[in-house]
This record gives sequence, C-alpha cells and structure tokens, in this order.
Amino acid sequence: MAERELALVLHDIAPETWEDYRPFVEAVDALGSVPMTWLVVPDFHHCSATFEDPELPALLEQRLARGDELTLHGYYHCDDAPPPRTPREWFMRRIYTYEGEFYALDQQQARQRLEAGIELFRQRNWPLHGFVAPAWLLSSGARAALRELPLSYTSDPQHLYRLPDFTPIRAPSLVWSARSRWRRGMSWAVNETARLRHRHQPLLRLGLHPVDMRHQLSRRYWLDTLKRLLDAGYTPTTKVDWLQRRGQRINNASASHGHL
Ligand SMILES: [Zn+2]
Repeated sequence: MAERELALVLHDIAPETWEDYRPFVEAVDALGSVPMTWLVVPDFHHCSATFEDPELPALLEQRLARGDELTLHGYYHCDDAPPPRTPREWFMRRIYTYEGEFYALDQQQARQRLEAGIELFRQRNWPLHGFVAPAWLLSSGARAALRELPLSYTSDPQHLYRLPDFTPIRAPSLVWSARSRWRRGMSWAVNETARLRHRHQPLLRLGLHPVDMRHQLSRRYWLDTLKRLLDAGYTPTTKVDWLQRRGQRINNASASHGHL
C-alpha cells in the first residue's frame, strides 16, 4: 500500500483550554515521537491572551523545538460581528456555530486581524505557514485577505488549500461533535465510517477540540484511534511538513518528466 500519513491537529489552543489538553498531550508524548499541529488562538473569546500568558508561550516554544507546528487559528475565535440579517446567515452563525469569527468579516477587517496574529508570531520568531479559520468558515473578504498575506495554506474539513491561489488538496479529517451526549454517540460511528472510507487517502487529519478532552468516550476514541493508525503503519506528520514534502515530490516528478 502507498505511504499513508496522519496529522494530529489540536484546535483552539489558548491558556483557557490548555488544562483540558495537557493529560492527552502527555499520553501522546508517551507513545514516542508524534509531531502535532497546534492551532493557536491569540485571544480566545477576548479573555485568554495566549501571547501574554506566563507559561503557554514557553511551552509552545518547546513544542516547536521538538518538530511540532504552530498555526494561526482566528484571533478571538468567537463571532462578535453585528447580528445576522438573512436566514442563511442566521443558520450559519447561530445554529451551525457561534465560533465563525471570519465568516462575517469584510476584507479589511479580516486583513487587520490576520496581520495582528501574524505580528504576534513574528515577535516571537515563530515560523508561521498556515491559517485555519474558526469553524473553518471564511467570508469572501477573508479569502481575499488571505491571498494578500505571506501564508502558505489554509484548510477546511476535507481539504488543505495552497495559498495564495486556494489550490485544493484532498486531506479528509476525523472530527467529533462532543457538545451533547447524543452527538458524542453518533460521532463514534460517523468517524469510524469516515476512517474506513478514507483509508486509501495519503493524509488523514485528526481534528481534536478541547471539549473532546472533557468526555471519556471522545478522549478514549482519539487515543485509541491514534494508536491504531500508528500500528497500521501511518506515519505521523505536521500539516506543513506534509505539504512541503508533497510539493517536492510533485516538483521532482515534473522535473524528471521534463527530461523525457
Ligand atoms: Zn476552533
């Protein structure tokens, strides 16, 4: 079988959520060298300033040193734009999620928040390649802003997109909906079905959320699934490492093609 890789992705990293993740990260570290991609929120819900925290930046720096990736994940994460005006907007911003920070921003607003986040990474000298929108929702203005900035990719649940041209690359995710008991029950079956359906994909992403860590069923699912995929021969990687290697393979292939 062709080589398969997995990317373990931790959403919503902020001082407020770190305690939820800590035991899980320790359990993953105990498995050996499993690189992770950390989706960092600069100021989660306006009350959890990651870059001013006394401990989290140092911890993230240690993660970078061991080969993990840090990605920008919104700025505040929550959607605090003026109330929705159309039924579709109301559905997307009140029923589907309250967390679509970049769903209602125009280009200039999106660009300001992106630049503020990029600047925080720059001040710390942290390499930054990717931006993941909260709830994966991007307005057309936010998409336009992303085309103008020095970032190399963004993503939604099924794809990575190379920037600035949004070239899609298929890379499905497993994701839980852990907000209620019945959703958690459904998530187990939904994710197992997805894992089997996507077993021939070169990259499978495991998209974890802090709420998953608060429930035994989802926490166990993630650790068991990670172990099972590693046993099945999946190589763990970060998103940016996978993208860079994939780009090199394509370049090599087209270069050798050119010599024919
Ligand atoms: Zn998020």
